[in-house]
Amino acid sequence: MKKVPKTKKVGPTRGLGTRYGATVRKRYVKVVTELKRPHKCPNCGFIRVHRESVGVWKCGKCNFTFAGGAYTPATKLGVVARRAAKGLSVEEATKEAAKAAAVEPATEEETD
Ligand SMILES: [Zn+2]
Repeated sequence: MKKVPKTKKVGPTRGLGTRYGATVRKRYVKVVTELKRPHKCPNCGFIRVHRESVGVWKCGKCNFTFAGGAYTPATKLGVVARRAAKGLSVEEATKEAAKAAAVEPATEEETD
């Protein structure tokens, strides 16, 4: 059976009506869609990771809980921080991260 969407075109902004402006609502759709989507677990590899709280992600399969971005489990800046912590130079890490994640929404973590 074909899945029928609850809304024709507004998606997660249902309930907001015509408020807050089209651009902001579009941005909101992008972030929330990514947030609600199940993500891949860095521990067991299953697509069962959901957000527990802001920046806290939990795998429904293996109960692995970890810190990540506010709206995505991994952010560009988080990747850079991890690489830098491993000993790679920041310039090197930044270059690699830029290649890896180009479509990340602007959700940043503390680095130092
Ligand atoms: Zn897992």
